Amino acid sequence: MTIQALYTLFQECPSISTDTRKITPNSMFFALKGDNFNGNSFAKTALESGAKYCVIDEKEFLINEKCILVDDVLKTLQELANYHRKQLKTPIIALTGSNGKTTTKELIHAVLSTQFKTLATKGNLNNHIGVPLTLLSLTRDVEIGIIEMGANHHKEIEFLCQIALPDYGLITNFGKAHLEGFGSIEGVIKAKSELYEHLKQHHKPIFLNINDPVQVKQAANYNKLVTFDTSDSNHTLKLKSAQPLLSFEYQNTTVKTHLTGAYNFNNICAAIAIGTYFKVRPEFIKQAIKNYIPTNNRSQVIKKGTNTIILDAYNANPTSMMAALENFKQTESNQKVLFLGDMFELGADSAIEHQNIVNYIEKHIIANVNLIGSNFFKTKTVNPLIKTFETFEDLRSDLNSNTVNNALILIKGSRGMALERVLEFL
Ligand code: ATP
Ligand code: MG
Repeated sequence: MTIQALYTLFQECPSISTDTRKITPNSMFFALKGDNFNGNSFAKTALESGAKYCVIDEKEFLINEKCILVDDVLKTLQELANYHRKQLKTPIIALTGSNGKTTTKELIHAVLSTQFKTLATKGNLNNHIGVPLTLLSLTRDVEIGIIEMGANHHKEIEFLCQIALPDYGLITNFGKAHLEGFGSIEGVIKAKSELYEHLKQHHKPIFLNINDPVQVKQAANYNKLVTFDTSDSNHTLKLKSAQPLLSFEYQNTTVKTHLTGAYNFNNICAAIAIGTYFKVRPEFIKQAIKNYIPTNNRSQVIKKGTNTIILDAYNANPTSMMAALENFKQTESNQKVLFLGDMFELGADSAIEHQNIVNYIEKHIIANVNLIGSNFFKTKTVNPLIKTFETFEDLRSDLNSNTVNNALILIKGSRGMALERVLEFL
Protein backbone atom coordinates (compact mmCIF):
# COMPACT_ATOMS: atom_id res chain seq x y z
CA MET A 1 0.00 0.00 0.00
CA THR A 2 1.31 3.46 -0.84
CA ILE A 3 1.75 6.09 1.87
CA GLN A 4 -0.95 8.20 0.19
CA ALA A 5 -3.41 5.29 0.40
CA LEU A 6 -2.49 4.64 4.01
CA TYR A 7 -2.92 8.34 4.71
CA THR A 8 -6.49 8.16 3.42
CA LEU A 9 -7.20 5.43 5.97
CA PHE A 10 -5.41 7.43 8.68
CA GLN A 11 -7.92 10.26 8.06
CA GLU A 12 -10.62 7.95 9.38
CA CYS A 13 -8.70 7.37 12.60
CA PRO A 14 -8.62 9.93 15.38
CA SER A 15 -5.32 8.60 16.74
CA ILE A 16 -2.46 6.13 16.52
CA SER A 17 -1.84 3.28 18.96
CA THR A 18 1.26 1.21 19.49
CA ASP A 19 0.31 -0.51 22.73
CA THR A 20 -2.72 -2.79 22.97
CA ARG A 21 -3.10 -1.92 26.66
CA LYS A 22 -3.80 1.67 25.70
CA ILE A 23 -5.85 1.34 22.50
CA THR A 24 -8.18 4.22 21.80
CA PRO A 25 -11.36 3.54 19.82
CA ASN A 26 -10.99 3.56 16.02
CA SER A 27 -7.25 4.16 16.21
CA MET A 28 -4.69 2.90 13.74
CA PHE A 29 -2.48 0.31 15.46
CA PHE A 30 1.17 0.11 14.42
CA ALA A 31 2.67 -3.28 15.25
CA LEU A 32 6.15 -2.15 16.26
CA LYS A 33 8.87 -4.57 17.31
CA GLY A 34 10.85 -4.13 20.52
CA ASP A 35 13.69 -6.10 22.07
CA ASN A 36 11.26 -8.30 23.94
CA PHE A 37 8.07 -8.20 21.91
CA ASN A 38 6.72 -8.43 18.40
CA GLY A 39 3.79 -6.05 17.87
CA ASN A 40 2.54 -8.25 15.02
CA SER A 41 1.46 -10.85 17.52
CA PHE A 42 -0.83 -8.25 19.14
CA ALA A 43 -2.70 -7.39 15.94
CA LYS A 44 -5.69 -9.54 16.81
CA THR A 45 -5.93 -8.09 20.34
CA ALA A 46 -5.62 -4.58 18.91
CA LEU A 47 -8.62 -5.10 16.61
CA GLU A 48 -10.62 -6.73 19.40
CA SER A 49 -9.79 -3.77 21.65
CA GLY A 50 -11.20 -1.27 19.19
CA ALA A 51 -8.46 -0.43 16.69
CA LYS A 52 -9.85 0.35 13.25
CA TYR A 53 -6.77 -0.77 11.30
CA CYS A 54 -3.60 -2.66 12.10
CA VAL A 55 -0.35 -1.98 10.28
CA ILE A 56 1.75 -5.16 10.37
CA ASP A 57 4.83 -6.48 8.60
CA GLU A 58 4.56 -10.25 9.05
CA LYS A 59 2.23 -12.12 6.71
CA GLU A 60 1.20 -14.81 9.17
CA PHE A 61 -0.56 -12.24 11.35
CA LEU A 62 -2.84 -11.07 8.56
CA ILE A 63 -6.32 -11.76 9.93
CA ASN A 64 -8.74 -9.72 7.86
CA GLU A 65 -9.06 -6.69 5.59
CA LYS A 66 -8.39 -4.39 8.55
CA CYS A 67 -4.79 -5.56 8.61
CA ILE A 68 -2.46 -3.61 6.36
CA LEU A 69 0.67 -5.50 5.42
CA VAL A 70 3.75 -3.32 4.83
CA ASP A 71 7.48 -4.08 4.48
CA ASP A 72 8.49 -2.40 7.69
CA VAL A 73 6.07 -1.03 10.29
CA LEU A 74 8.52 1.43 11.88
CA LYS A 75 9.58 2.86 8.51
CA THR A 76 5.93 3.19 7.52
CA LEU A 77 5.13 5.04 10.77
CA GLN A 78 7.97 7.47 10.06
CA GLU A 79 6.92 7.98 6.44
CA LEU A 80 3.31 8.54 7.38
CA ALA A 81 4.36 11.10 10.00
CA ASN A 82 6.46 12.94 7.44
CA TYR A 83 3.59 12.87 4.92
CA HIS A 84 1.15 14.20 7.52
CA ARG A 85 3.57 16.91 8.57
CA LYS A 86 3.90 18.03 4.92
CA GLN A 87 0.13 18.08 4.45
CA LEU A 88 -0.51 20.25 7.52
CA LYS A 89 2.40 22.68 7.12
CA THR A 90 2.23 23.52 10.86
CA PRO A 91 5.23 25.65 11.91
CA ILE A 92 7.49 23.38 13.95
CA ILE A 93 10.11 24.29 16.51
CA ALA A 94 12.58 21.46 17.09
CA LEU A 95 14.86 21.31 20.06
CA THR A 96 17.73 19.11 20.99
CA GLY A 97 20.77 19.34 23.28
CA SER A 98 22.45 17.30 25.99
CA ASN A 99 20.47 18.67 28.95
CA GLY A 100 17.28 20.56 29.55
CA LYS A 101 15.36 19.59 26.42
CA THR A 102 12.18 18.50 28.17
CA THR A 103 12.22 21.37 30.64
CA THR A 104 12.78 23.91 27.86
CA LYS A 105 10.18 22.26 25.66
CA GLU A 106 7.65 22.56 28.48
CA LEU A 107 8.58 26.17 29.19
CA ILE A 108 8.24 27.06 25.49
CA HIS A 109 4.93 25.24 25.42
CA ALA A 110 3.72 27.09 28.52
CA VAL A 111 4.73 30.45 27.02
CA LEU A 112 3.37 29.93 23.51
CA SER A 113 0.13 28.29 24.61
CA THR A 114 -0.93 31.56 26.26
CA GLN A 115 -1.55 32.95 22.76
CA PHE A 116 -1.50 30.02 20.35
CA LYS A 117 -2.95 26.59 20.00
CA THR A 118 0.22 24.55 20.50
CA LEU A 119 1.16 20.92 20.58
CA ALA A 120 4.34 19.66 22.24
CA THR A 121 6.04 16.30 22.60
CA LYS A 122 4.40 14.41 25.45
CA GLY A 123 6.81 13.68 28.29
CA ASN A 124 10.08 12.52 26.84
CA LEU A 125 8.88 10.86 23.60
CA ASN A 126 11.84 12.23 21.69
CA ASN A 127 13.19 9.36 19.60
CA HIS A 128 12.62 7.71 16.19
CA ILE A 129 9.22 6.50 17.42
CA GLY A 130 8.21 9.39 19.70
CA VAL A 131 8.86 12.10 17.11
CA PRO A 132 6.65 10.43 14.44
CA LEU A 133 3.93 9.81 17.03
CA THR A 134 4.00 13.47 18.07
CA LEU A 135 3.79 14.58 14.44
CA LEU A 136 0.86 12.27 13.80
CA SER A 137 -0.99 13.82 16.72
CA LEU A 138 -0.88 17.24 15.02
CA THR A 139 -4.33 18.43 14.06
CA ARG A 140 -5.28 21.20 11.64
CA ASP A 141 -6.06 23.65 14.40
CA VAL A 142 -2.56 23.46 15.92
CA GLU A 143 -0.72 26.70 15.20
CA ILE A 144 2.75 25.76 16.49
CA GLY A 145 4.31 22.34 17.15
CA ILE A 146 7.16 21.96 19.63
CA ILE A 147 9.17 18.81 19.10
CA GLU A 148 11.87 17.43 21.39
CA MET A 149 14.56 15.43 19.63
CA GLY A 150 16.87 13.12 21.54
CA ALA A 151 19.83 11.16 20.27
CA ASN A 152 22.61 8.97 21.48
CA HIS A 153 24.26 8.29 18.13
CA HIS A 154 25.40 10.29 15.15
CA LYS A 155 22.92 10.98 12.34
CA GLU A 156 19.89 10.43 14.57
CA ILE A 157 19.06 14.14 14.79
CA GLU A 158 19.50 14.48 11.04
CA PHE A 159 17.09 11.58 10.57
CA LEU A 160 14.51 13.10 12.96
CA CYS A 161 14.83 16.42 11.12
CA GLN A 162 14.14 14.71 7.81
CA ILE A 163 10.91 13.39 9.28
CA ALA A 164 9.80 16.51 11.19
CA LEU A 165 11.15 19.17 8.77
CA PRO A 166 11.47 21.82 11.50
CA ASP A 167 10.96 25.50 10.70
CA TYR A 168 12.90 26.69 13.75
CA GLY A 169 15.50 25.08 15.97
CA LEU A 170 17.18 25.39 19.32
CA ILE A 171 20.06 23.50 20.92
CA THR A 172 19.83 23.79 24.70
CA ASN A 173 23.48 22.95 25.34
CA PHE A 174 26.36 20.67 24.42
CA GLY A 175 27.43 18.49 27.32
CA LYS A 176 29.01 15.24 28.30
CA ALA A 177 26.00 12.99 27.84
CA HIS A 178 25.80 9.69 25.96
CA LEU A 179 29.56 9.70 25.46
CA GLU A 180 29.37 5.97 24.78
CA GLY A 181 27.51 6.57 21.52
CA PHE A 182 29.12 9.89 20.54
CA GLY A 183 32.72 9.03 21.42
CA SER A 184 33.70 12.43 22.81
CA ILE A 185 32.44 15.94 23.48
CA GLU A 186 33.45 16.81 19.90
CA GLY A 187 31.21 13.95 18.83
CA VAL A 188 28.34 15.40 20.89
CA ILE A 189 28.81 18.83 19.29
CA LYS A 190 28.82 17.38 15.79
CA ALA A 191 25.77 15.21 16.44
CA LYS A 192 23.62 17.93 18.05
CA SER A 193 24.67 20.38 15.33
CA GLU A 194 22.92 18.18 12.79
CA LEU A 195 19.88 20.28 13.73
CA TYR A 196 21.70 23.48 12.74
CA GLU A 197 22.88 21.87 9.51
CA HIS A 198 19.33 20.92 8.60
CA LEU A 199 18.01 24.41 9.35
CA LYS A 200 20.83 26.04 7.40
CA GLN A 201 20.13 23.87 4.37
CA HIS A 202 16.49 24.94 4.43
CA HIS A 203 17.17 28.60 5.33
CA LYS A 204 15.22 28.36 8.58
CA PRO A 205 15.91 30.39 11.73
CA ILE A 206 18.03 29.16 14.65
CA PHE A 207 17.37 30.41 18.19
CA LEU A 208 20.87 30.95 19.52
CA ASN A 209 22.29 31.63 22.97
CA ILE A 210 25.12 34.08 22.26
CA ASN A 211 26.58 33.34 25.66
CA ASP A 212 27.41 29.78 24.56
CA PRO A 213 30.62 29.93 22.50
CA VAL A 214 30.05 26.49 21.01
CA GLN A 215 26.60 27.47 19.70
CA VAL A 216 28.06 30.65 18.28
CA LYS A 217 30.85 28.72 16.55
CA GLN A 218 28.52 26.08 15.16
CA ALA A 219 26.19 28.72 13.70
CA ALA A 220 28.96 31.07 12.47
CA ASN A 221 28.25 32.90 9.22
CA TYR A 222 24.61 31.90 9.19
CA ASN A 223 22.32 34.83 8.58
CA LYS A 224 19.06 33.55 10.08
CA LEU A 225 19.80 33.76 13.77
CA VAL A 226 17.40 34.85 16.48
CA THR A 227 19.78 35.50 19.35
CA PHE A 228 19.33 35.74 23.09
CA ASP A 229 21.77 36.51 25.85
CA THR A 230 21.93 34.62 29.14
CA SER A 231 24.84 36.64 30.51
CA ASP A 232 24.87 39.45 33.06
CA SER A 233 25.33 41.99 30.29
CA ASN A 234 21.67 41.56 29.39
CA HIS A 235 19.88 44.37 31.20
CA THR A 236 16.29 43.38 30.51
CA LEU A 237 16.61 39.76 31.60
CA LYS A 238 18.86 38.78 34.50
CA LEU A 239 19.24 35.90 36.92
CA LYS A 240 18.64 37.09 40.47
CA SER A 241 18.94 33.95 42.51
CA ALA A 242 18.87 30.26 41.82
CA GLN A 243 18.97 28.78 45.31
CA PRO A 244 16.99 26.88 46.10
CA LEU A 245 14.30 28.43 43.89
CA LEU A 246 15.18 30.48 40.87
CA SER A 247 14.05 34.05 40.43
CA PHE A 248 14.90 36.47 37.66
CA GLU A 249 14.48 40.08 36.71
CA TYR A 250 12.56 40.59 33.49
CA GLN A 251 11.57 44.02 32.24
CA ASN A 252 11.92 45.57 35.69
CA THR A 253 9.90 43.00 37.59
CA THR A 254 11.05 40.01 39.59
CA VAL A 255 9.65 36.65 38.56
CA LYS A 256 9.80 33.85 41.11
CA THR A 257 9.73 30.36 39.65
CA HIS A 258 9.29 26.79 40.86
CA LEU A 259 12.56 25.84 39.17
CA THR A 260 15.94 25.49 40.80
CA GLY A 261 19.49 25.88 39.55
CA ALA A 262 21.26 28.53 37.50
CA TYR A 263 21.23 26.10 34.56
CA ASN A 264 17.47 26.54 34.37
CA PHE A 265 17.99 30.22 33.65
CA ASN A 266 19.29 29.23 30.20
CA ASN A 267 16.15 27.22 29.64
CA ILE A 268 13.99 30.16 30.73
CA CYS A 269 15.88 32.58 28.48
CA ALA A 270 15.31 30.29 25.50
CA ALA A 271 11.57 30.15 26.23
CA ILE A 272 11.41 33.94 26.59
CA ALA A 273 13.33 34.44 23.33
CA ILE A 274 10.94 32.16 21.47
CA GLY A 275 7.88 33.74 23.10
CA THR A 276 9.16 37.20 22.17
CA TYR A 277 9.83 36.08 18.59
CA PHE A 278 6.22 34.93 18.30
CA LYS A 279 5.05 38.21 19.85
CA VAL A 280 3.65 36.76 23.06
CA ARG A 281 2.86 39.59 25.46
CA PRO A 282 5.52 39.96 28.19
CA GLU A 283 2.89 39.65 30.97
CA PHE A 284 1.83 36.29 29.54
CA ILE A 285 5.45 35.17 29.26
CA LYS A 286 6.08 36.05 32.90
CA GLN A 287 2.94 34.36 34.09
CA ALA A 288 3.61 31.17 32.13
CA ILE A 289 7.12 30.80 33.51
CA LYS A 290 6.08 31.72 37.01
CA ASN A 291 3.35 29.05 37.01
CA TYR A 292 5.41 26.24 35.49
CA ILE A 293 5.99 23.43 37.98
CA PRO A 294 8.60 20.79 37.12
CA THR A 295 7.56 17.18 37.55
CA ASN A 296 8.99 13.73 37.21
CA ASN A 297 12.00 14.23 39.53
CA ARG A 298 13.42 16.99 37.29
CA SER A 299 14.99 19.58 39.57
CA GLN A 300 12.04 19.68 41.96
CA VAL A 301 12.34 21.47 45.27
CA ILE A 302 10.48 19.62 47.99
CA LYS A 303 10.03 20.35 51.69
CA LYS A 304 9.78 17.21 53.77
CA GLY A 305 9.79 17.41 57.53
CA THR A 306 12.67 19.67 58.46
CA ASN A 307 14.56 18.98 55.22
CA THR A 308 14.66 20.91 51.95
CA ILE A 309 15.25 18.50 49.11
CA ILE A 310 16.41 19.25 45.60
CA LEU A 311 15.13 16.16 43.85
CA ASP A 312 16.99 15.83 40.58
CA ALA A 313 16.86 12.08 40.23
CA TYR A 314 15.43 12.10 36.69
CA ASN A 315 18.81 11.65 35.03
CA ALA A 316 22.49 12.56 35.27
CA ASN A 317 25.59 12.96 33.19
CA PRO A 318 28.85 14.78 33.94
CA THR A 319 27.59 18.14 32.67
CA SER A 320 24.26 18.16 34.48
CA MET A 321 25.92 16.70 37.60
CA MET A 322 28.43 19.55 37.66
CA ALA A 323 25.69 22.11 37.04
CA ALA A 324 23.69 20.71 39.97
CA LEU A 325 26.75 20.60 42.25
CA GLU A 326 27.73 24.15 41.35
CA ASN A 327 24.27 25.23 42.34
CA PHE A 328 24.35 23.17 45.53
CA LYS A 329 27.69 24.70 46.47
CA GLN A 330 26.19 28.18 46.26
CA THR A 331 23.07 27.38 48.24
CA GLU A 332 23.39 28.39 51.85
CA SER A 333 22.63 25.90 54.61
CA ASN A 334 24.21 24.88 57.90
CA GLN A 335 23.88 21.26 57.02
CA LYS A 336 24.15 19.79 53.56
CA VAL A 337 23.70 16.21 52.43
CA LEU A 338 24.37 14.78 48.99
CA PHE A 339 23.01 11.59 47.47
CA LEU A 340 24.61 11.01 44.11
CA GLY A 341 24.08 7.95 41.95
CA ASP A 342 26.14 6.55 39.09
CA MET A 343 26.10 8.24 35.69
CA PHE A 344 25.48 5.74 32.90
CA GLU A 345 26.44 5.51 29.22
CA LEU A 346 29.88 7.06 29.63
CA GLY A 347 31.83 4.23 27.99
CA ALA A 348 35.59 4.44 28.38
CA ASP A 349 35.31 7.81 30.19
CA SER A 350 33.23 6.40 33.01
CA ALA A 351 35.97 5.92 35.64
CA ILE A 352 37.54 9.33 35.09
CA GLU A 353 34.22 11.19 34.99
CA HIS A 354 33.09 9.65 38.29
CA GLN A 355 36.44 10.46 39.86
CA ASN A 356 36.17 14.06 38.56
CA ILE A 357 32.91 14.45 40.45
CA VAL A 358 34.50 13.16 43.66
CA ASN A 359 37.48 15.48 43.19
CA TYR A 360 35.15 18.44 42.70
CA ILE A 361 33.22 17.61 45.87
CA GLU A 362 36.42 17.21 47.88
CA LYS A 363 37.61 20.59 46.72
CA HIS A 364 34.43 22.67 46.80
CA ILE A 365 31.65 21.17 48.90
CA ILE A 366 31.27 20.68 52.61
CA ALA A 367 28.55 18.11 53.07
CA ASN A 368 27.78 14.60 54.16
CA VAL A 369 28.15 12.79 50.88
CA ASN A 370 26.61 9.47 49.88
CA LEU A 371 27.79 8.07 46.56
CA ILE A 372 25.80 5.13 45.27
CA GLY A 373 26.52 2.61 42.52
CA SER A 374 29.33 0.39 41.28
CA ASN A 375 31.07 3.26 39.43
CA PHE A 376 31.16 5.65 42.36
CA PHE A 377 32.13 2.71 44.57
CA LYS A 378 35.40 2.42 42.62
CA THR A 379 36.37 6.08 43.10
CA LYS A 380 39.05 7.13 45.56
CA THR A 381 38.69 9.71 48.32
CA VAL A 382 40.45 10.74 51.50
CA ASN A 383 37.51 12.83 52.75
CA PRO A 384 35.86 11.13 55.75
CA LEU A 385 32.53 12.86 54.94
CA ILE A 386 32.28 10.92 51.68
CA LYS A 387 30.77 7.45 51.93
CA THR A 388 30.43 5.09 48.99
CA PHE A 389 27.82 2.35 48.62
CA GLU A 390 28.04 -0.28 45.93
CA THR A 391 24.27 -0.80 45.81
CA PHE A 392 21.13 0.94 46.93
CA GLU A 393 20.60 -1.86 49.44
CA ASP A 394 23.87 -0.94 51.14
CA LEU A 395 22.71 2.67 51.39
CA ARG A 396 19.36 1.53 52.74
CA SER A 397 20.91 -0.12 55.77
CA ASP A 398 22.98 2.98 56.45
CA LEU A 399 19.92 5.26 56.18
CA ASN A 400 17.94 3.04 58.51
CA SER A 401 20.41 3.78 61.26
CA ASN A 402 21.22 7.45 60.47
CA THR A 403 18.38 9.93 60.12
CA VAL A 404 18.78 13.22 58.29
CA ASN A 405 17.19 16.38 59.71
CA ASN A 406 17.35 20.14 59.13
CA ALA A 407 19.38 19.66 55.98
CA LEU A 408 19.57 20.88 52.43
CA ILE A 409 19.70 17.73 50.35
CA LEU A 410 20.54 17.15 46.70
CA ILE A 411 19.52 13.84 45.11
CA LYS A 412 20.83 13.16 41.63
CA GLY A 413 21.73 10.14 39.54
CA SER A 414 21.03 8.38 36.25
CA ARG A 415 17.48 7.17 35.68
CA GLY A 416 18.42 3.54 36.24
CA MET A 417 19.58 4.39 39.76
CA ALA A 418 16.02 5.55 40.66
CA LEU A 419 17.42 7.63 43.51
CA GLU A 420 14.00 9.07 44.30
CA ARG A 421 13.84 5.97 46.53
CA VAL A 422 15.95 7.96 49.02
CA LEU A 423 12.87 10.09 49.75
CA GLU A 424 11.32 7.27 51.79
CA PHE A 425 14.07 7.71 54.35
CA LEU A 426 13.94 11.48 54.71
P1 ATP B 1 16.68 13.53 28.29
O1 ATP B 1 17.98 13.38 27.54
O2 ATP B 1 16.42 12.45 29.27
O3 ATP B 1 15.52 13.77 27.38
P2 ATP B 1 16.50 16.36 28.76
O4 ATP B 1 17.56 16.94 27.90
O5 ATP B 1 15.11 16.39 28.25
O6 ATP B 1 16.87 14.88 29.19
P3 ATP B 1 15.45 17.53 31.20
O7 ATP B 1 14.60 16.34 31.40
O8 ATP B 1 14.80 18.81 30.87
O9 ATP B 1 16.58 17.19 30.13
O10 ATP B 1 16.33 17.78 32.49
C1 ATP B 1 17.03 16.71 33.07
C2 ATP B 1 18.03 17.24 34.04
O11 ATP B 1 19.07 17.93 33.34
C3 ATP B 1 17.49 18.29 35.00
O12 ATP B 1 16.85 17.71 36.09
C4 ATP B 1 18.75 19.04 35.38
O13 ATP B 1 19.47 18.34 36.34
C5 ATP B 1 19.57 19.02 34.11
N1 ATP B 1 19.49 20.24 33.30
C6 ATP B 1 18.38 20.84 32.84
N2 ATP B 1 18.66 21.91 32.09
C7 ATP B 1 20.01 21.99 32.04
C8 ATP B 1 20.93 22.88 31.41
N3 ATP B 1 20.52 23.90 30.65
N4 ATP B 1 22.27 22.65 31.61
C9 ATP B 1 22.71 21.63 32.37
N5 ATP B 1 21.88 20.76 33.01
C10 ATP B 1 20.56 20.93 32.84
MG1 MG C 1 13.89 14.87 27.68
